[in-house]
Amino acid sequence: MRPTYQVTELLGDGIGPELSRAVHTLAEALPIRLEFVPVDLTLENRRAQGLKIYDKAVEAVTASRVALKYPTVTAEESPNAILRRRLDLSVIHRPVYTIPGVPTNFRRELDIDIVRIATGGTYDDPGRMIGDDGAVSLRIVERRPVREAARYAFTLARRTGNKRVTSASKYTIQKATDGLFESIAKEVAAQFPEVPHNSELFDALLGKVIMTPERFQIVLVLNEYGDFLSDMACGLAGSLGIGASANLAFDAAAVVRVALFDAAHGTAPDIAGKNLANPTAIFLALSMLLYQLGETDLGHTVKTTTLDLLRQGVRTRDLGGEESTDSFTAAVAAEVTRRLAEAKELPATPLP
Ligand code: NAD
Repeated sequence: MRPTYQVTELLGDGIGPELSRAVHTLAEALPIRLEFVPVDLTLENRRAQGLKIYDKAVEAVTASRVALKYPTVTAEESPNAILRRRLDLSVIHRPVYTIPGVPTNFRRELDIDIVRIATGGTYDDPGRMIGDDGAVSLRIVERRPVREAARYAFTLARRTGNKRVTSASKYTIQKATDGLFESIAKEVAAQFPEVPHNSELFDALLGKVIMTPERFQIVLVLNEYGDFLSDMACGLAGSLGIGASANLAFDAAAVVRVALFDAAHGTAPDIAGKNLANPTAIFLALSMLLYQLGETDLGHTVKTTTLDLLRQGVRTRDLGGEESTDSFTAAVAAEVTRRLAEAKELPATPLP
């Protein structure tokens, strides 16, 4: 009997249906059963059902604890903003790495996991004018989301072979807010003595990521710094639209309560329904979901197979290749099947 996991599938617009078909095809190649629970977040259904469709989405995601979201049109409301608020998704994990076949101006290899606190910083207070010539805004740092993000970053490091965690902020200037952030990072680091940890000033970090990217593996940052760093790193990797993210909510013990995975790109209305959509980003989102389920070998196989095929030139048209959504998906699914079968045949311990 194959292990079974429920996964909420938040259906979207444009190329969403094609991506969902691709995910189902790839899921069939896995030796586990992903039982998809669909919730229709297409614009048409959102308009027909009103805001109550989000009650259904929140209920389903809370029950299954993991969800895959396809891109949705932002019209009357932003489904992403509503889901983030309603599910209390307080941390965003965005891996950024060099993707073969994606053109980039940067010649070095990059492989960084950015763990960003998704609330507070300077983003929760739009500020106010003081008279006509000045303005102020509050900078908010709260213990709970910082602790949740730090625990997540260090757990990720432990799970992936004790990668280094770097916390970055402006603690020398923003002594209270960024000082609190760094003190919590240190408290959590003490609970993971086997994981290397260091702190960097955020401005210095930006320069160092460009000069010596190999020194950075997992970077823990407050909201706005994470925003800046993600875009810079994605720009370096040349992969603004190919990446994927995990959006995370935590329980009282700072353990992941729900995780929603999505692709960075939008609904691509110009190519919708034409079998041209590149499923790379949603496959990378699926790979992260498998890691979250504890199926690390499968998550690794889905990610490396997708990237290896891109490297070998098996690419959709947006990356200069000839493949359609269906043919690229079939190639990934076949190669995943082959690699998993090969791994099963290998002896558990290598022969001398
Ligand atoms: P977009 O990412 O949809 O498209 C930008 C360009 O990239 C287009 O030329 C498109 O064809 C191409 N592209 C995007 N994804 C692709 C893929 N998987 N394969 C091949 N080509 C791809 O951005 P946009 O045009 O600014 O936005 C379109 C809609 O998407 C808007 O309604 C926006 O609100 C929505 N959007 C949703 C999300 C989300 O739900 N996470 C994110 C961004 C944008």
